[in-house]
Amino acid sequence: MIISVASGKGGTGKTTIATSLALLLSEERSQKIQFLDCDVEEPNAYIFLKPQIKKTQPVNILVPQVDKRKCNFCGECAKVCVYNAIVVLKREVLVFPELCHGCGGCSLLCPEDAITEAERKMGVIEEGQVRRIQIRTGPIRFIQGRLNIGEPMATPLIRAIKKKINPDGVTIIDVPPGTSCPVIEAVHRSDFCILVTEPTPFGLNDLKLAVEVMRKLRIDCGVVINRANIGDDRVKEYCHRESIQIMAEIPYDRNVAVLYSSGIPMLIEGEKYRKIFSQLWASIERRVG
Ligand code: SF4
Ligand code: SF4
Repeated sequence: MIISVASGKGGTGKTTIATSLALLLSEERSQKIQFLDCDVEEPNAYIFLKPQIKKTQPVNILVPQVDKRKCNFCGECAKVCVYNAIVVLKREVLVFPELCHGCGGCSLLCPEDAITEAERKMGVIEEGQVRRIQIRTGPIRFIQGRLNIGEPMATPLIRAIKKKINPDGVTIIDVPPGTSCPVIEAVHRSDFCILVTEPTPFGLNDLKLAVEVMRKLRIDCGVVINRANIGDDRVKEYCHRESIQIMAEIPYDRNVAVLYSSGIPMLIEGEKYRKIFSQLWASIERRVG
């Protein structure tokens, strides 16, 4: 089962909810739990889960290199590249590696066989194990991606992380914030998506966008309202109007904020949160079946 945890905007508490859910599930030793941090521009789930990283693997994409001795400047490569990563001038071919998606189309269609491909490192995947954080919690397989600083394309790295999913057990994916391509890649093939929001006008606006994306992708979703005791009722009213289940409401709690600032998941705070996450998981299981 693959469960994504997403939010239309950053700062809603998505990662604390994803990590707490993973820890709760790890208590049931019958389940194999994997945690994928696909928020590759700023992965921070490791702060809460404290994994031992055992393996680091570079992720490369293939970008074109043009042999000007063979090139006749016909422009076919530029025509096929929808990303404008290759431009042909009168006596020059310019390649913009940062825009290249590594699809290989240009080298395939070059009539003069003038294009070869070279690897460009865009980031790394780190893999390890979360050991017991608390008496009750169990092991979690942990995988995270780190995009190189300044690298504009997160999607190939997220795709590479997702290839590592073991279909046995439960996979929790921490999705990048927003509603752009990296989000779509991260939630793709999820059985369910938890949309984390907060009861503010910004939270509502970004929730609406996220719901639209999930509906387009036909991914079943429900809402968790974080800091539910501040703000207004407009998120709830929207969910009722749109028949979206509010799966959990987590109140603002100063103790949780203090724990958060020390890198401690909210689940550790006590039975109150354990109950909220147990009920959240029970709702997901009912929905996913
Ligand atoms: S398709 Fe090949 S031959 Fe034509 S401009 Fe591009 S690199 Fe040169
Ligand atoms: S590999 Fe694909 S994305 Fe990259 S330059 Fe060629 S056609 Fe464009």
